Amino acid sequence: MKQFNNPLWLPYTQMHNVELPPVVVATSGSQIHLEDHKILIDGIASWWSACHGYNHPCILQAMQEQLSRMPHVMLGGFTHAPALTLAQKLSELLGPDLNHVFYSESGSVAVEVALKIALQYWINQDNFAKTTFMHFQHSYHGDTFLTMSLCDPEQGMHRKFNHILNKHYCLSFPANVEDLLQFEVFLEKNHHMLAGLIVEPLVQAAGGMKFHTMDMLKALVLRVQDFGIPVIFDEIFTGFGRTGSLFAFEQIGVKPDIICLGKALTGGVTPLSATIASTKLYNQFLSDKVSDALMHGPTFMGHALGCAAALASCALFSQEPRLAQVQTIETYFKEIFPPFARYAMVKETRVKGAIGVIQLHARLTTKQLKWLNHYFLQQGVWIRPFGDIIYLTPAFTIPMHELEILIQALHFALSGLQNLL
Ligand SMILES: *Cc1c(COP(=O)(O)O)cnc(C)c1O
Repeated sequence: MKQFNNPLWLPYTQMHNVELPPVVVATSGSQIHLEDHKILIDGIASWWSACHGYNHPCILQAMQEQLSRMPHVMLGGFTHAPALTLAQKLSELLGPDLNHVFYSESGSVAVEVALKIALQYWINQDNFAKTTFMHFQHSYHGDTFLTMSLCDPEQGMHRKFNHILNKHYCLSFPANVEDLLQFEVFLEKNHHMLAGLIVEPLVQAAGGMKFHTMDMLKALVLRVQDFGIPVIFDEIFTGFGRTGSLFAFEQIGVKPDIICLGKALTGGVTPLSATIASTKLYNQFLSDKVSDALMHGPTFMGHALGCAAALASCALFSQEPRLAQVQTIETYFKEIFPPFARYAMVKETRVKGAIGVIQLHARLTTKQLKWLNHYFLQQGVWIRPFGDIIYLTPAFTIPMHELEILIQALHFALSGLQNLL
């Protein structure tokens, strides 16, 4: 075991006695090439972002062209073709009434901006009481402070900060009509202080790849909107095809007032995120007072290189059969995942779009996690279990024979885990 000995502070990592993580020198397709010449098949598409696989020539070319002219120029006081064209494109893809695009550089900041828009929507109407957000158990919306406040306060990774985080309403997801009725009572009683609802529609990702039933989510969103309360869909994970449609809201049949996009927005190539608001919300910022404007502007917002990458990535969804590939993966997963349930430690399996989840009975212990991570590397696959799940979220372009290798590695790993005790 090689000790890690570098000033680099790694993400989500206990740095005490940490081993040197594999050093990546190149990527291509669904493959990650390591310094020691080993090649890993990526089962999770680089934190769910590399939806077209790595190094897609169309995205690289668009970026190279943009780079040769202008990597970036500030958006304050200026604009440029990549930012304008991408805003147009996103507004087209999202359809009517989600057409005011604000750029940031990360998902967390895109959510911060969404929350700020919802709060200021009320402030600009001289309503200072509506300051509390509703979110859900198992939610994850980012690592900045307000987004940490809207992560699951009990299970979430930010619970250490509970004593200084803002208090919001953490709801459990309605399971039936009675729950919905209770939720209505809650809304009746509290709507005067509610600023908005934020939810990861259809799939809560970092909270454990939990799926929602569509009709419950639809009913819930409609009730919130009936009270005129803005609904924010955090589609940073679900956006761009992951659940089978370009956006998850298309399957649910309701539209949010604000949507947040990130991760696969640039095909996972370069940081860029977007917060897109409805005209109703946007109009509340229009007045003859500067103080009514949205006072926000990340230095690198609308990064030209990022916008060029995102435009190329969006185009790939029509130039290549991307959603059909998601469908193929879903069909394959629906056939290949249920047999994992035969392992004693597996509680159930579930599949949605290009997401396959093995739900365990208990959270993985540190020892089990460590063993799994080593084992997967040894098998030449990049799979990162967390909490009580082992899952795949591959690139939509992954070849079938590479998917088969991932599935086989999962079987070997589950057999190995049983014998570990
Ligand atoms: C990853 C993620 C975020 C945070 O995005 P970052 O780019 O890591 O800041 C927020 N919400 C959801 C649903 C995510 O999956």
